[in-house]
Amino acid sequence: MAVTRTFSIIKPDATRRNLTGGVTKMLEDAGLRVVASKRIQMTREQAEGFYAVHSERPFFNDLVTFMISGPVVVQVLEGEDAVLTNRTVMGATNPDNADEGTIRKTYAESIEANSVHGSDSDENAAIEIEYFFKPEEIVG
Ligand code: ATP
Ligand code: MG
Repeated sequence: MAVTRTFSIIKPDATRRNLTGGVTKMLEDAGLRVVASKRIQMTREQAEGFYAVHSERPFFNDLVTFMISGPVVVQVLEGEDAVLTNRTVMGATNPDNADEGTIRKTYAESIEANSVHGSDSDENAAIEIEYFFKPEEIVG
């Protein structure tokens, strides 16, 4: 295994409930280091671009509306096998299917309002990090 980076979003359902710290603690306890972090209000265009891969899915418009319904915290996480480590601590997309001790089991409200996003491959992590961060904003 190697130290790699992944991209994370603390979604509006979590920031609304003051869970930025709670989610971040679970990420850190899983062995991930926050090497960049900022709280932003996404524009509709930004959210549509970010989720473009899902643009044909029936839940796309609702998902974009949810993601701009309040602030999010975008983060770059670093650690051993960061994409997989993060996906494991996040838990399944639908919190009903998520394992005990995962972020989504602990905090998610629904399959849509599921508290966190995490990149699903090293390739997408690099694309997503570049979408939100300048190189000088990432300090490892
Ligand atoms: P993410 O990409 O946010 O990390 P994921 O990889 O677990 O989540 P995806 O299949 O990429 O899941 O879906 C992206 C997001 O779209 C989900 O996190 C969720 O917020 C929303 N979503 C996925 N499936 C549904 C659905 N059936 N109904 C409503 N929203 C959904
Ligand atoms: Mg995904």
